[in-house]
Amino acid sequence: MFKNLAQSLEQNLEYRRSVMRAMLMLVMIGGSTFSSINFYRGLWGLAALELFFIFFAFFLWRKILHTSHFQRWINVFLCPFFATMVYAMYVPNSSESIFVWILTIPVICYLMMGRKQGFWVSLFFILSGVVVYHFRFINGNLAINIAESLNIILSASLMILLAHVYETNREKNEARLLELAGTDDLTGLANRMKLEETFTLYVEYAKRNKSPLAVVLFDLDYFKNINDQHGHQVGDATLKYIAHFIKNRVRKTDLLVRFGGEEFVLLMAGSKEKDCYQQIDSIRQQLIDMPFVYNDVTIAITISAGISTYEKDGKNLEALLLKADQRLYLAKGNGRNCVVDANNGFTD
Ligand code: GH3
Ligand code: MG
Ligand code: MG
Repeated sequence: MFKNLAQSLEQNLEYRRSVMRAMLMLVMIGGSTFSSINFYRGLWGLAALELFFIFFAFFLWRKILHTSHFQRWINVFLCPFFATMVYAMYVPNSSESIFVWILTIPVICYLMMGRKQGFWVSLFFILSGVVVYHFRFINGNLAINIAESLNIILSASLMILLAHVYETNREKNEARLLELAGTDDLTGLANRMKLEETFTLYVEYAKRNKSPLAVVLFDLDYFKNINDQHGHQVGDATLKYIAHFIKNRVRKTDLLVRFGGEEFVLLMAGSKEKDCYQQIDSIRQQLIDMPFVYNDVTIAITISAGISTYEKDGKNLEALLLKADQRLYLAKGNGRNCVVDANNGFTD
């Protein structure tokens, strides 16, 4: 139903994979042509390096489809690839037009490595290219030397700038999309998708630190009556009020989620079972004392909650939610406006 956040990030990886495969194809085709030409021209070192990259590209062509170390393989391929590019510029008899390739470095780096790494790797290889260019074509005319070096530096800087702006925007948009995908529209709380993601992280933390983890399932009592008496809009405003009411009374590290219509889930990391119960029951009582007031109309609402505990009641989210739901059902059966956990007198 909901796509995992990590799966959404996978899409970017898929996109990088396709770009990388297109590039590998070009390396195989271009490499074969250039290594033949360079072999013919007696530039054996360069021809051998190009031959090596043809085989490397051929090997990676399939490898990058399945590897879980995609980024590492990209680095292992691209850094020596750029180094070879710079070496090709340095070889005295190589074609002068090879310097055109320098401008592709920032684009490839940013696309394949992201903003930070992309910036440093492209800067390093562009500077190396400029130094090589300077030494290879240095002549007596200082003005021409400076002008030529400046041409490369400025055009490469422009490419870095464009790639930087593009990648920064892309990363921002991706982060915003991920945030929206994990947020409930009405209340601004996290949604189910975020719950699944965070639960996995919290379980890791709980296991590592041998600390408790509780799942609380809240349900508003007779919420349907509020919609019926005051209208759906007031029902919505009530949901927002409750969402903020609970959120302001739990720890910043706890995750409050709008789970469904008028149901909320709270992941409480690090609270002992007893403290957890007391805190939730205290929120329940505070809500009675501080009802929602909408246009001078007081809307009294109560909550019922069921609590389950990691390990004791289950090891996965589904089992813990089921247990919390069973206890919530007991709370409803007990007249509502109460909290049920494993120890507070109700048998389950
Ligand atoms: P109970 O004490 O047994 O939980 O009774 P209830 O009335 O709260 O539960 P019921 O499941 O019968 O009704 C839930 C209501 O919540 C029905 C639905 O119209 C309302 N609801 C669900 N989502 C929204 C929403 O986003 N906005 C509003 N205003 N109402 C919603
Ligand atoms: Mg309900
Ligand atoms: Mg309800």
